[in-house]
Amino acid sequence: MGNTRVKVIGAGLAGSEAALQLAKYGFEVDLYEMRPLKTTGAHTTDKPAEFVCSNSMGSLDATNASGLLKHEMSALGSFLINIAKESQVPAGNALAIDRTVFSQKVENLINENGKINLIREEIVKIPEDSPVIVASGPLTSEALADNIKEFTGAEHLHFFDAIAPVVEKDSINFDKAFYASRYDKGEASYINCPMNKQEYEKFYDILINAPKIELKEFEKDAKFFESCLPVEVLASRGVDTLRYGPMKPVGLVDKRTGIENYAVVQLRQDNTAATMYNLVGFQTNLKWGAQKELLHAIPGLENANILRYGVMHRNTFINSPILLEPTLQCKKRKDLFFAGQITGTEGYTESIATGMLAGINTARFLKGQKQLVLPDITMLGALMKYITTCEPKHFQPVNSNWGIVAPLEADKKIKKNKKLKNEMLSQRSFDYLKTFVF
Ligand SMILES: Cc1cc2nc3c(=O)[nH]c(=O)nc-3n(C[C@H](O)[C@H](O)[C@H](O)COP(=O)(O)OP(=O)(O)OC[C@H]3O[C@@H](n4cnc5c(N)ncnc54)[C@H](O)[C@@H]3O)c2cc1C
Repeated sequence: MGNTRVKVIGAGLAGSEAALQLAKYGFEVDLYEMRPLKTTGAHTTDKPAEFVCSNSMGSLDATNASGLLKHEMSALGSFLINIAKESQVPAGNALAIDRTVFSQKVENLINENGKINLIREEIVKIPEDSPVIVASGPLTSEALADNIKEFTGAEHLHFFDAIAPVVEKDSINFDKAFYASRYDKGEASYINCPMNKQEYEKFYDILINAPKIELKEFEKDAKFFESCLPVEVLASRGVDTLRYGPMKPVGLVDKRTGIENYAVVQLRQDNTAATMYNLVGFQTNLKWGAQKELLHAIPGLENANILRYGVMHRNTFINSPILLEPTLQCKKRKDLFFAGQITGTEGYTESIATGMLAGINTARFLKGQKQLVLPDITMLGALMKYITTCEPKHFQPVNSNWGIVAPLEADKKIKKNKKLKNEMLSQRSFDYLKTFVF
């Protein structure tokens, strides 16, 4: 079956990785991407594998859940993780990338590959004439989403995320802002805008009274993903919620004054040239005029030039516990696989990871080989187990976290020592993958 052509829908993070994996196994791939003919509302380029919001993929530290997933992906031969490392910009322990460099490198690899045909076309119906990987993402076009809904027979679920604004570095006032990393860990690559109590209260007052963009009728029962809440939603929970969340000041000391402030807004480098910085945890759905007023009330950002405003977006995902095997194969059609955020895994790293797995498993299925199912002592195995076995009625997207991994068989003392426990959990995954041949 080596000559079979495989169709991959969506040249995003998952689809690009899946296509490259299929090509590695010797398959010809038609990779369909609707941009630039049709856009999603969040993507701004016609490039494959575009990072639409933050440029950070989270921690690289293997004792962090997302970090462990990255190590596993490297061990299993992910193409995009390698490219991310080649496109890295400073961000402490996190893997943050220059999104332009990253997408260009992915596009080059696809074009140079020789087996992948990148076709600019919107797919409106799941193809029936060849094996398929659907990797059309959280912003799957409406026509295809309707067809998936019809095919699965299940109700689609929608909830909402929001994007953080980006500002120009040269417009930041460094008389007030300062570079530091929390507790001085790693390189001091974050820019911090400090607030005293009075400044915070003024900022909070603007935020809580700021007008939001009206939701459309069908969006009114929006369910937010808890770890990506808009800043105004967090603020509505109480005056101090932000100070214990994205504006946490602890461990961020301005060396010029020696002061730990009342609240801090952190900015993370967004491009290699370090000319653009995004506001960490500041995803928002406020009207653009209100965003400007709010950002300009942050000490250090009084005159900030806003390069991109925050927006809110739809997130579409299927009911994986009902529809998918842990290999990402569709239960009711064996030559159909799903990958990326549409499977209900959440995040850039997770989308690439599921793209990798779907690519490998589609290839192995077509070659008549045993598909790859990792145990839940690995982060990827745990993610697959979670999305395919959790209660379908309450299924919500999930990102890498220690809660889904099989517990350690260790004594209570070790289990209570979080650092040691995480080290042992990641070592367990490494040990497994070292002996693992596929
Ligand atoms: C606005 C927004 C902000 C996000 N912010 C973050 C963040 O900060 N951090 C994080 O970790 N995750 C974030 N995510 C979640 C997630 O990690 C990203 O969406 C990620 O890009 C998902 O990867 P994917 O491959 O599943 O989808 P995508 O990367 O979106 O790729 C899907 C591709 O399919 C194409 N497509 C859609 N429909 C069709 C069709 N019918 N025919 C052909 N092509 C089609 C799209 O144009 C797109 O290129 C965000 C998501 C969104 C939508």
